[in-house]
Amino acid sequence: MLNLPTCWSCQYSFKWIQLLFMTGTKQCPSCGAKQYNTSRKKRKIVWIGPALATLMLVLLNIFHISLMNVLLLGLLLLLIALVISPFTYEFTDKNEGVF
Ligand SMILES: [Zn+2]
Repeated sequence: MLNLPTCWSCQYSFKWIQLLFMTGTKQCPSCGAKQYNTSRKKRKIVWIGPALATLMLVLLNIFHISLMNVLLLGLLLLLIALVISPFTYEFTDKNEGVF
């Protein structure tokens, strides 16, 4: 089940579009509290890039598809990751850092 994150302070439900291009922290439009992504989720996001690159290399070797198609596929995967990324966020009041 995909759920959009809520404000840790006032339980305001963020809209998908508000989180689409979020980097670092976000301010709650309702109560003004700063939102930090939990480190657990951040770690997951950090791994998306290398995981995608590995997947693309594996596909290239197994199916012998052209580099152009692999790049297109990679672009598509990145787009999908971007679209679903707001659903992976979870906010706290503490900046926990990535590691
Ligand atoms: Zn709030």
